Amino acid sequence: MSADFWGPDFDELRATDPEIAGVVLGELQRLRGGLQLIASENLTSPAVLAALGSTLSNKYAEGYPGRRYYGGCQVVDAAEEIGNARARELFGAEHANLQPHSGASANFAVYAAFARPGDTVLAMDLKQGGHLTHGSKVSFSGKWFDAVSYTVREDTELIDYDQVRDLAKQHQPKIIICGATAYPRLIDFPVFREIADEVGAILMVDAAHFIGLVAGKAIPSPVPHADVVASTTHKVLRGPRGGMILCREQHAAAIDKAVFPFTQGGPMMHAIAAKAVALKEASTAAYQAYAAQVVTNAGALAKSLEDEGMRAVSGGTDTHLALLDLRPIGVTGAQAEARCDLARVTLNKNSIPYDPAPPLRPSGIRVGSPSTTTQGMGEPEMAEVGRLVARAVKADHESDAGRAELAEVAEQVGELVSRFPAYRR
Ligand SMILES: *Cc1c(COP(=O)(O)O)cnc(C)c1O
Repeated sequence: MSADFWGPDFDELRATDPEIAGVVLGELQRLRGGLQLIASENLTSPAVLAALGSTLSNKYAEGYPGRRYYGGCQVVDAAEEIGNARARELFGAEHANLQPHSGASANFAVYAAFARPGDTVLAMDLKQGGHLTHGSKVSFSGKWFDAVSYTVREDTELIDYDQVRDLAKQHQPKIIICGATAYPRLIDFPVFREIADEVGAILMVDAAHFIGLVAGKAIPSPVPHADVVASTTHKVLRGPRGGMILCREQHAAAIDKAVFPFTQGGPMMHAIAAKAVALKEASTAAYQAYAAQVVTNAGALAKSLEDEGMRAVSGGTDTHLALLDLRPIGVTGAQAEARCDLARVTLNKNSIPYDPAPPLRPSGIRVGSPSTTTQGMGEPEMAEVGRLVARAVKADHESDAGRAELAEVAEQVGELVSRFPAYRR
């Protein structure tokens, strides 16, 4: 540890709070010992973690750099200015705001900037891959706004752009939202721009899942087409847990006011510093190679699972994630998730488009490649991961034979990850 850095000291935590120290160690062991296939997760770098665990956590800095409501902000101001400049540069955006505490907070601020309760918004159906903040009745977005949903086509499982246009014309939304949590394909941002212009709506791209692929130039950017891009910073982008908003200059003041003081109080300066670090890392050639590999690896994983009898929704993936329909192999998403858990593979059950089964027992699973790619795995390993997942998914965990099979898969998972360790010393 450098002499002038006062940072995380694990022995201090262990002495003060052995219980929580145990949790922290247990989680590291879980990460190191298994396969992380949750599409929205990644493994942050030690540099990001160092900024997160710094004394910047102490500072109150309500306001924006140079215009704070507290004294002593000159030092932390630099972190936010550097971070904002990096975000503008990396994404070619006119304005950036790194203060949102999370993706949902970023979305809330965008609604606040452009709509009033009762206004209409048009977004993707939650059951088909949208997010809770895109109009679900259990979220502010569906309770306070009149949310209209578009869907994917039943035949292609791709966004039905004709339906988006028809609904936009019929309902005249204030905001049109594209971007999803479980959509494996590219989104046609120019078409969304056209539709938004036809009805005079704000185009908001919720890039929470894929902003890292945009940063790494692995997929087309929504920035030139959107009025505003809201995002997380912790998914493929591999930064700290948090949110970010990019927008055109004309919307900068509205967005900044909507984040603070309308929806949030003091910014988390340690998280903003960590976001700045992640944005620097994401500007490198190494990160671009990573982003390209994430997409290649997701394709290899999807292909391997298809070879094992599962059906890839929309026929595959262009991104970091794939959705698999398990009906062809007669397993539910919940069974698959539970069985994989026993085999030290973490993934999530997921509804598939037009799923006949209820959301708590959906027909599919969602898998993603950000974490395994960070660990250094390539296509041969992803093919092996697919075979291990398939063995686990097909093993009946309520029978002795199935449990023995799951134990064997767990052992092979352990062997595989030991060759690609997370947080190697
Ligand atoms: C993950 C996600 C969010 C929410 O991010 P949180 O940080 O969990 O609040 C919002 N929108 C989309 C599309 C997401 O995938």
